[in-house]
Amino acid sequence: MNKAKRKTIIAGNWKMNKTPAEAKVLISEMIPLVKDADCDVIACVPFVDLAVALEAAQGTNIKIGAENCHWAKSGAFTGEISADMLKSMGIEYVIIGHSERRQYFGETDVTVNQRVRAALDAGLTVILCVGEQKVEREQGITAELCRMQTKVALQGVTAEEMSRIVIAYEPVWAIGTGLTATADQAEEVCALIRDCIAELYTAEVAEATTIQYGGSMNDANAEELLSKVNVDGGLIGGASLIAEKFAKIVEAASK
Ligand code: PEP
Repeated sequence: MNKAKRKTIIAGNWKMNKTPAEAKVLISEMIPLVKDADCDVIACVPFVDLAVALEAAQGTNIKIGAENCHWAKSGAFTGEISADMLKSMGIEYVIIGHSERRQYFGETDVTVNQRVRAALDAGLTVILCVGEQKVEREQGITAELCRMQTKVALQGVTAEEMSRIVIAYEPVWAIGTGLTATADQAEEVCALIRDCIAELYTAEVAEATTIQYGGSMNDANAEELLSKVNVDGGLIGGASLIAEKFAKIVEAASK
């Protein structure tokens, strides 16, 4: 396995936090702190913050992403946002299949796949979240679960399109709980997701795919998690809301 074959990506997931005015401040605080990053830096922000975040990040190394998109191009889907809408305003990235969408908003592996397809068709890069719940880890089905989520989400995605797929392994029990997977647990599952991609596509595609870890990653544990050969970055929730903490994770990923 050769880490040099893929990008290291640190992405923030702001969830339902920050007004547009607050988003402007947070991006402005991040800019000087991450400007020398030797990894890709992304802030995924609420829909209403996208315009202001794009403007604030213009000309910097911070890229802006959304936290979800709908699978249809347009139509009678009150309250939803299409991938084409995101693309048209200059957005490059979108998170799809976050466990909070699965848990609270009825997201299924099938709708995740539909959203992935729509995002790729619109020209976006997808951060696809997969991960087991606590009970599933206890039942010993983490591997099957993550393999199934990955396989269903990637149905109809070509090998060429895999260059616009980033996978975030996010054990649900570690998200927003302060419980972090150990570096070995993160490595084990990121490695099996990579094996799954190799089975679906080729070893080359698997080696080139960025697989992040997410789940209470912070400035104290990032370095150890990121030292693992199959952990190519992080999807960061809570710690992405504090510029200094987020910047420290970016620094750890840049070593
Ligand atoms: C997330 O929201 O994707 C996440 C990993 O959250 P936290 O870092 O707060 O656990």
